[in-house]
Amino acid sequence: MNLLEISSLSKAFGGVNANEDVSFSLKPGELLALIGPNGAGKSTLFNMINGQLRADSGSIKLEGQELVGLAPRAIWRLGVGRTFQVAQPFSSMTTIENVQTALLSRDRKLFNLWRNAADHHRDEALDLLQQVQLAEQADRPCNALAYGDVKRLDLAIAMAHRPRLLLMDEPTAGMAPRERNDIMALTRALVVRHHVAVLFTEHSMDAVFGYADRIVVLARGRLIAQGTPQEIRENQKVAEIYFGTSTLPGGKLDTPFDA
Ligand code: ADP
Ligand code: MG
Repeated sequence: MNLLEISSLSKAFGGVNANEDVSFSLKPGELLALIGPNGAGKSTLFNMINGQLRADSGSIKLEGQELVGLAPRAIWRLGVGRTFQVAQPFSSMTTIENVQTALLSRDRKLFNLWRNAADHHRDEALDLLQQVQLAEQADRPCNALAYGDVKRLDLAIAMAHRPRLLLMDEPTAGMAPRERNDIMALTRALVVRHHVAVLFTEHSMDAVFGYADRIVVLARGRLIAQGTPQEIRENQKVAEIYFGTSTLPGGKLDTPFDA
């Protein structure tokens, strides 16, 4: 059974078809990369799934439940988590307090958040930090963390909510290749351990082809290909768009998610 089922999804801005008749699905425990040139419609699609944007037509079903028309908060409650391109943990807290805060919010105990953050869920928070290899930084103030570590923390915070589907907004943007590899490997480990489905956009083709189970390719709002990394590598249309002979306006290799 599919976790996420996207059918004939369309969204236009003025005369621009940002998404046009897009359909694909995602299974639990699947790591799916969404790629495409700048302006392809990736952000639009993400924002329709998380509820920031409303589809003009089509359907987005999470285990059979229609998400189109629901508020972002309701979608988040149903188990659709996200990481942020620019992660913004509470910088006045320590690393572990940030995760504890997320755990508290998951349990809807926000009313006495500040008093409780220091002792609640410490073991669970530490376990999550271990899963993103951040346990050693647990008691450091967040504003002392390196950029790559903030990204790991963002991932731990997202996982604290036990998402069934995690949307990752350029998880490796701004990272060195080595660090990039680490975060993708971590994500892969989280997918296996928690059986969460992950949909990510990414401009590093190494990350995409090295880690995705499947790849969906958008161009000018349309889904032009989907398949395994091997199938996508051998796809003629994709090769044209990504490797040179494309005449698409602005059809160069991808740019950041929110560009
Ligand atoms: P990508 O993330 O793949 O780069 P986007 O989803 O951001 O693509 O954009 C797809 C198309 O929709 C582009 O032509 C973009 O200019 C247009 N678009 C996106 N958001 C808006 C908006 N809020 N208002 C008008 N046009 C938009
Ligand atoms: Mg974008």
